[in-house]
Amino acid sequence: MVTVALLPIGEELLSGAVTDTNSSWIAARLKSCGFQVRYKHTTGDVSADILQSLESLTARASIVIMTGGLGPTRDDVTKRVLLQWSGSEWVRDEATYARIRKYMEARGRTVNELNATQADVPSRARVLPNYQGTAPGLWLEKDGKIVISLPGVPYEMKALMDQQVLPLLQQRFETPVVLEKILHTGGIPESELALQLKSFEEQLPEGIQIAYLPEPGLVKVKLTLSSLRENQAVAEQFLQDQAERAARIIGPEVYARDQETLEEEIFQLLKAGGKTIAFAESCTGGAISARLVQVPGISAVLKGSVVSYSNEVKMALLGVLPATLQAHGAVSRETAMEMAAGVRKLCESDYAVSVTGIAGPDGGSETKPVGTVWIGVASEGKTEAFPFLFEQNRSRNIQRATLAALLLLRKKHLGILGDAAN
Ligand code: ATP
Repeated sequence: MVTVALLPIGEELLSGAVTDTNSSWIAARLKSCGFQVRYKHTTGDVSADILQSLESLTARASIVIMTGGLGPTRDDVTKRVLLQWSGSEWVRDEATYARIRKYMEARGRTVNELNATQADVPSRARVLPNYQGTAPGLWLEKDGKIVISLPGVPYEMKALMDQQVLPLLQQRFETPVVLEKILHTGGIPESELALQLKSFEEQLPEGIQIAYLPEPGLVKVKLTLSSLRENQAVAEQFLQDQAERAARIIGPEVYARDQETLEEEIFQLLKAGGKTIAFAESCTGGAISARLVQVPGISAVLKGSVVSYSNEVKMALLGVLPATLQAHGAVSRETAMEMAAGVRKLCESDYAVSVTGIAGPDGGSETKPVGTVWIGVASEGKTEAFPFLFEQNRSRNIQRATLAALLLLRKKHLGILGDAAN
């Protein structure tokens, strides 16, 4: 495999003020194109340090990808190092200058001295035009090594990688493609899932690898296979067949595939079935609705939501009975059911889901510890509620309750809600 090294630049990456998401994104993209990231050196905005990192990485990898330190605000520290490393002189790249001028004019501004320096590049560099911003990417070669410098701003870097760097690298190197299929599962612990797939895993054809990627409340099962470019279509089908075999073994807990999201899946299901939904959210505070409204066109199925945090709102808007709250408390099966039935009536929806729980860190008791959550589900003629016990961590409890509510809704619609509580 062709080896790549990453060289992210920026003091804020070292201080922890900015998380280096660029590197993980680049590494994943390179992997899917058959390149392997073997090293990473994060370096501050100091020329001598950057040069030293560059020398050491070019000695070990065929390709070095640098990000950041390109813009005028950083005194173009990366470009200066590349000028020195490649033995170049400054030249003005007229195409970049014209693009900067156009970019500025479109915003009612003129090109100042700082902007203009962004068009000055090392003479030995191939310029990679940046259509999202002003600092161009640079491609340099010396002694058989390739050094690519990209802006630090994530969306500029991503566009340059996808539109220019990866196609150029693929032209240059005969790399295999790495194919992957992902099954998203909800509500089954990783160890149980691994047991379910034990014999599938033992019989997996050579070359296919399986990985379990757990997140709070869900596990993604990833199958990967490397293939030569000319065999890609056949390999793709082969991997797809294996993914379908795994999906059949896991059953209805597979709620989405590859890049699909749970909210998109729910939207598609409800829309196809002509069903509408409403939510009564207490401890999730609107998080369920916020996830759903990420899906374009959601108004076709989402009627509305009530963030019923206090008992007063639970009673006044949702019709929860004072006696219910008094006898069972706000976090209880009875309250969750009345909340769901109440919001369904209020919003005139087909389904309604309610969430009431103790997110923490305070408010727990011996009988209802932090992490206790009741989720109610109401539909025509039937209202039920399911208990969950999540964790001690407030934000993870909100995240897990949100996920559990959406998974219950999906199961309700598919008619497989029976054993949903766990
Ligand atoms: P500028 O023209 O703004 O100077 P640049 O290309 O020189 O851009 P930097 O100044 O290093 O890039 O970074 C610009 C912004 O991009 C940073 O403030 C940070 O928010 C983001 N950024 C930089 N490097 C990374 C990284 N490795 N991962 C995620 N975000 C990053």
